[in-house]
Amino acid sequence: MLERNYDVVVAGAGPAGICAAVEAARSGAKTALIERYGCIGGNLTQGYVGPLLGGTCAGTMSEEIARRVCPVPGAVPDFEWAKIALTEMVADAGVDVYLQEAVVSVEREEDRLCAVIADGKCGPIRFAADVYIDATGDGDVAYLAGCPYDMGRTGDGLIQPVSFMFIIQGVDEDQHLLCEHEEHHTDLGDGREYLDLCHRACKTGELPKNVNIVRLYKTAYPDERMVNASQENYINPFDPTDLFRAEASLRRQTNQIVDFLKNNIPGFADIRVKGSSTTLGVRESRRILGDYVITVEDVAAGRLFDDAVVHHAGFCVDIHNPDGPGQSEFVDKRPTIAGAHDIPFRAMTPIGVNNLITAGRCISGTHEAMASYRVMNICFAMGQAAGAAAALMKTHGISSTRALDVALIREHLKSRGVKLDA
Ligand SMILES: Cc1cc2nc3c(=O)[nH]c(=O)nc-3n(C[C@H](O)[C@H](O)[C@H](O)COP(=O)(O)OP(=O)(O)OC[C@H]3O[C@@H](n4cnc5c(N)ncnc54)[C@H](O)[C@@H]3O)c2cc1C
Repeated sequence: MLERNYDVVVAGAGPAGICAAVEAARSGAKTALIERYGCIGGNLTQGYVGPLLGGTCAGTMSEEIARRVCPVPGAVPDFEWAKIALTEMVADAGVDVYLQEAVVSVEREEDRLCAVIADGKCGPIRFAADVYIDATGDGDVAYLAGCPYDMGRTGDGLIQPVSFMFIIQGVDEDQHLLCEHEEHHTDLGDGREYLDLCHRACKTGELPKNVNIVRLYKTAYPDERMVNASQENYINPFDPTDLFRAEASLRRQTNQIVDFLKNNIPGFADIRVKGSSTTLGVRESRRILGDYVITVEDVAAGRLFDDAVVHHAGFCVDIHNPDGPGQSEFVDKRPTIAGAHDIPFRAMTPIGVNNLITAGRCISGTHEAMASYRVMNICFAMGQAAGAAAALMKTHGISSTRALDVALIREHLKSRGVKLDA
């Protein structure tokens, strides 16, 4: 088996993994980034996901990423730019990137990971490191290491639906219709209201049965819209049969949604699909249990923590209904966000393994809390914090995340310009 040795190994090159690897490498750690697909970016490239949602305190790496991937501030990223810009970012930082290599197993001895094994065209590669970061979204490394986890909502275990994002082109430039969320009502100018129209079309079968809102976001280009609408419920993202069932259904739904827009919305008659997600958009899967579990009460109260490594994370509790169309649980009463909350380092330290850090949507939190902190700006900041922590463990010769003084991570992030005390 091929062998590679690193200070820090990051699994998964999505929003969290890229920031983790770049921060670790910029901080002097010899860093590998392992990605199962042929392109880095995760949902930010392959998933066609945008806009970059969620807030954090000023100065995190999310600002650098936005500058690199969004041609117009506030618009969705240009995914072709993003593929190039993110690749340059990791290459310039000196990260060794291993594409088309999926982490498939790990070696664990008691409370330590000794290696992760990735498999690809040249056969298995054994990556040994001092510290590992699991940024696979699904928590694959922690799962393979036997760490405890939760998945789905309490009671029935259902997760949020999977979706395909896509971009349409050919919208009349005089038509300014946008629909960013469930309360974004727009008069179409002829007595019809856009969201009412969507709800009716869902009931009549003109839209797919679980699609009662067709969200439309602006992109950098006036004749385009980013569409977030299709959804398939009751999918197990780890079952290949389910994955193809969802793929087939969502590709059909894309056509149906485009026809609905063409036939009903003034200025949309000539639209066509410009591009779409190349892989299923999975909003939710394993939540790896850490030393702290972030709750919806923490999110709603804007709870602050002494060991915060992400400060002022802010987004609504956005639960796409696991059991039907629209939103669930907080439909008419999304918890009032008193103030943006913190993410404590303890939520990123999986139980049972001392040299593993999680970052991104797989950190430790409840189904409801994850529905808030899963958005990309918050994932970038988590990744940066994980990369800083891993590099500090290496430089200070600290072998356990539990022995790492979080004040060191905070000082390091502040030296990067992150306003953790703001
Ligand atoms: C349909 C949809 C719409 C969304 N809309 C928005 C939105 O509008 N705005 C927003 O900010 N957020 C949105 N989100 C949420 C956001 O995109 C994700 O929560 C975020 O991308 C999570 O980042 P991550 O780095 O944790 O995981 P991911 O983006 O999933 O990246 C994980 C990476 O790890 C790789 N990987 C997985 N397993 C392995 C393995 N075993 N070995 C090697 N590599 C592996 C994957 O290929 C991927 O590149 C949406 C999500 C979905 C699915």
